[in-house]
Amino acid sequence: MAHSLKPLHTFALNNQCQHFVEITSVEQLKAHRFSAPFCLLGEGSNTIFLENYAGTVIKMATKGITITERENDVLVSAAAGENWHKLVSYLLDKDIAGLENLALIPGTVGASPVQNIGAYGVELAQFVESVEYIDIATKTKVTLTNAQCEFAYRDSIFKHALKNKAVITQVNLALPKKWQPVLSYGPLKVLQNPTPKMVFEQVIEIRNAKLPNPYTLANAGSFFKNPIISNARLEVLLVRFGDLPHYPYGESHHKVAAGWLIDQAGLKGFTVAGIEVHQQQALVLVNHGDSKGSDLITMITHIQNTVFARYGIMLEHEVRLINTNSECHIITEHA
Ligand SMILES: Cc1cc2nc3c(=O)[nH]c(=O)nc-3n(C[C@H](O)[C@H](O)[C@H](O)COP(=O)(O)OP(=O)(O)OC[C@H]3O[C@@H](n4cnc5c(N)ncnc54)[C@H](O)[C@@H]3O)c2cc1C
Repeated sequence: MAHSLKPLHTFALNNQCQHFVEITSVEQLKAHRFSAPFCLLGEGSNTIFLENYAGTVIKMATKGITITERENDVLVSAAAGENWHKLVSYLLDKDIAGLENLALIPGTVGASPVQNIGAYGVELAQFVESVEYIDIATKTKVTLTNAQCEFAYRDSIFKHALKNKAVITQVNLALPKKWQPVLSYGPLKVLQNPTPKMVFEQVIEIRNAKLPNPYTLANAGSFFKNPIISNARLEVLLVRFGDLPHYPYGESHHKVAAGWLIDQAGLKGFTVAGIEVHQQQALVLVNHGDSKGSDLITMITHIQNTVFARYGIMLEHEVRLINTNSECHIITEHA
């Protein structure tokens, strides 16, 4: 029976799926008969259903957190359906620090390794000891080490070799007992001798001031990835755009701020039907309601074309777009 997808993803397009299953135990997951097309889902904060989905949406809602103290660190094992921010907050209440820079990132624990969530100078990959998943073909449990997850900027093996093959059931994090605050991000630098709780609260304050709450104004967070360009390319761009924010990425590349590129191209407030480039944060697209997937595609294409014409950089969307039966990527071709 058709099931509304609107409340299942934070961009809240008014589409439906053919079938919907909520998984609350690993046994239920193992017993589930997967048939294509299917789409794994957590809280839908990085997924947009552009159209009605012709298959089954499988929402991971398993719960459980265990904490094991070891000599130098604390091992935290959390089930896929746990809410990420609640986990961060729960651990801090137990004086287990390390994840505070990642506070208030929407979504589930199970989705966190998929795009290697990151914010304010910290990435999930820094803490992952292993990730457990159920192999969809064999229904067996597999454990991947950190290295086997092939983490990179907003990327992991779960977006490539294991896409549609693995359901993450548990993430195991090793949080060092010796706490080192990460204050490299501008607004965190003001903190003097901070405690983990102070960093947590500052991150929440910054995020609340900067980002629209997806549960009151539909959005999917940062829509585009920060482009990674060669040092040589950056030098050329800096001649024309001296203010372009950039951060080293390895030895030979830099990451540049996608939000700045969009903002400086004059796109803040640009609207297609009910979809708008957010007035305060150009990297976020908001849905004021009644918009369609086709409006979103028009918006993405317009932003990509405008940014490419100005800087010669093609923006890649970070958000996962799902059409009637699979994931799709919008990339505007340029000669
Ligand atoms: C306001 C806002 C702010 C955000 N800020 C940040 C940020 O600062 N940093 C950041 O990195 N991200 C950010 N995001 C993106 C989002 O929060 C993360 O990508 C998050 O991990 C998504 O979790 P989810 O449960 O909602 O995933 P979903 O959107 O439900 O799923 C995301 C992907 O993971 C797959 N997936 C989900 N669960 C599983 C599973 N158990 N096994 C296998 N695959 C699975 C899905 O198939 C899908 O492809 C933000 C989003 C919003 C709306």
